[in-house]
Amino acid sequence: SLILGIESSCDETAAALVTSDRHILAQRVAGQESAHRPFGGVVPEIAARAHVEILPALIADVLAEARIALAGVDAIAATAGPGLIGGVMVGLMTGKGLALAANKPLIAVNHLEGHALSPMLTDPNLAFPYLLLLVSGGHCQLLFVEGVGRYRRLATTIDDAAGEAFDKSAKLLGLGFPGGPAVEKAAKDGDSEAVPLPRPLTGTAEPHFSFAGLKSAVLRAHDSGHYSVPDIAASFQRAVVDCLLDRTKRALTHAAGATALVVAGGVAANQAVRGALQALADAHDLPFVAPPLWLCTDNAAMIAWAGALRYEAGMVDGLDAAARARWPLDPAAEKARGAGV
Ligand code: ATP
Ligand code: MG
Ligand code: FE
Repeated sequence: SLILGIESSCDETAAALVTSDRHILAQRVAGQESAHRPFGGVVPEIAARAHVEILPALIADVLAEARIALAGVDAIAATAGPGLIGGVMVGLMTGKGLALAANKPLIAVNHLEGHALSPMLTDPNLAFPYLLLLVSGGHCQLLFVEGVGRYRRLATTIDDAAGEAFDKSAKLLGLGFPGGPAVEKAAKDGDSEAVPLPRPLTGTAEPHFSFAGLKSAVLRAHDSGHYSVPDIAASFQRAVVDCLLDRTKRALTHAAGATALVVAGGVAANQAVRGALQALADAHDLPFVAPPLWLCTDNAAMIAWAGALRYEAGMVDGLDAAARARWPLDPAAEKARGAGV
């Protein structure tokens, strides 16, 4: 099958055409960094307006590039949450309009499912079930991925997400926005042992992550005037990697049957994160799978791909599908821990 994917849940406007046998016919991502940079972070209202302006032409572009008419796609997959609700509504309503106009089924995709299944798009050998570290701007979770729509959450963050920690620390250090790539770049010239920073929750019996204390420690180190920005960036990155590694190592003991260790989400683009997880997987004799860098950060190929897997499984949605600001992949785990964790 051939699926048109639409993504607009944060500050990337994206469209893609992907087949169920892993061919990416066309895919485009339009970032909005310059529109948000003056504010030091994503402004929801500006993002939603930008999606309205950019998305229709972007969809026309991918169809033209692949030489496909809208009538030639089998279904339209749009992110229906979680994310900034204004942006989600723009993408979902665009998808609904196209589905209605072309008389095609709509697939309302969970953005997190897009990230979670993205490693399968570029690695045909990856099979269910796998242990997934989902590290993005809004989430930091360990998930046992059993199949399409079947996710068991083993851990989540009790405060900030990993990408959020990168972004906030970058801001404190004056490295600008978006923070992840800026911290990684600055860290290259720094000493990761130079600044003593905490590794919250590591070594504990509980499964979860915490990054808020680390961010505060970065602020104190910077204010002290004793350390260079590259040294703080390198030490911070090392601390995040240590936290991710410790928690993932623990989760592996609760993920019997996992066929691979997998990472996805924007922070999975970080080379230090990838290297550490690769070594952990090697030590456990597990294959390690990470998507190519462009597939880690937000894009529509992963939404089209999740849509393709859903379409093949007969999982399509009605035109009454809701846009959702919050939408956990494992609602039972979310409920058990209480809202927000
Ligand atoms: P979510 O997917 O949870 O809704 P999001 O869609 O905003 O959040 P992504 O696009 O998946 O998040 O990832 C963006 C995040 O990834 C940002 O926090 C960004 O700083 C971080 N990031 C991107 N590249 C890197 C990198 N090289 N190193 C560290 N972090 C990175
Ligand atoms: Mg972004
Ligand atoms: Fe994302």
